[in-house]
Amino acid sequence: MATAIVTGASQGIGACIAKRLAKDGFDIALNHYPSDSDKANAEKVAEECRAFGVKAELFAADVSKYDECEKMVKDIKEAFGSIDALVNNAGITKDGLLARMKESDYDAVIAVNQKSVFNMTKFAASVMMKQRHGRIVNVASVAGLYGNAGQMNYSASKAAIIGMTKTTAKEFGSRNITCNAVAPGLIRTPMTDVLSDELKQKMIEAVALKRYGEPEEIASVVSFLVSDDASYVSGQVIEISGALSM
Ligand code: NAP
Repeated sequence: MATAIVTGASQGIGACIAKRLAKDGFDIALNHYPSDSDKANAEKVAEECRAFGVKAELFAADVSKYDECEKMVKDIKEAFGSIDALVNNAGITKDGLLARMKESDYDAVIAVNQKSVFNMTKFAASVMMKQRHGRIVNVASVAGLYGNAGQMNYSASKAAIIGMTKTTAKEFGSRNITCNAVAPGLIRTPMTDVLSDELKQKMIEAVALKRYGEPEEIASVVSFLVSDDASYVSGQVIEISGALSM
């Protein structure tokens, strides 16, 4: 059985990706932030994954921390035997106009959204290299493609992920490892629930399809990218935004 790691899988897009890959037949290593509430949420997601007849286990780690990622990947390899797919999904926002953005808000977003991809890719790809097989999908954002006022930190982290995706594809391609990114637009999750109604409305008006995207619409593209059908797709960024113009 193939194994997929999904980071930040306790809610939102990550939870949905975990369930979709379980449905596809992957055993799932669900990463969650080390807190009681995240653990409880992740356990519910794991239950839903197991309903598809696959193995699903929780792995608590703050993915911005190098040592925690190293230990988590080692534990996952021991528990599952292989690591076939890695979905770097965990992410946060700490929005604000640049003039008012605190240095700590910049650093925190870069650490969780960008450094986590360095950490997880480094350790998981080392396992994949020995297997001569692997699929990596990074969850970027339209903010990384076009920029977004009030998101200097977030757009920097997501643009970086796009560069990291292309570099990973080039470095590991000869070992039959693909790496791609998805760039979601406005997706209905706890991350966007906190936006003001006025801002949500303004953003939806900029979407050609005139609606939110659903987490399932991200998960289905990730499902394709980790499948055999995507064996010659690497180094690409797939925008999933309903034709958003920013
Ligand atoms: P979400 O509902 O807030 O979920 C993010 C998940 O990541 C949460 O479970 C969160 O745990 C976890 N996480 C945060 N920091 C972590 C850390 N240091 N270690 C481990 N896990 C951590 O957000 P979402 O909307 O599903 O977003 C998922 C991904 O899609 C993110 O990378 C986001 O940037 C990207 N994205 C989202 C949208 C959108 O419109 N929703 C658009 C473009 C891109 P906590 O709850 O404990 O923080």
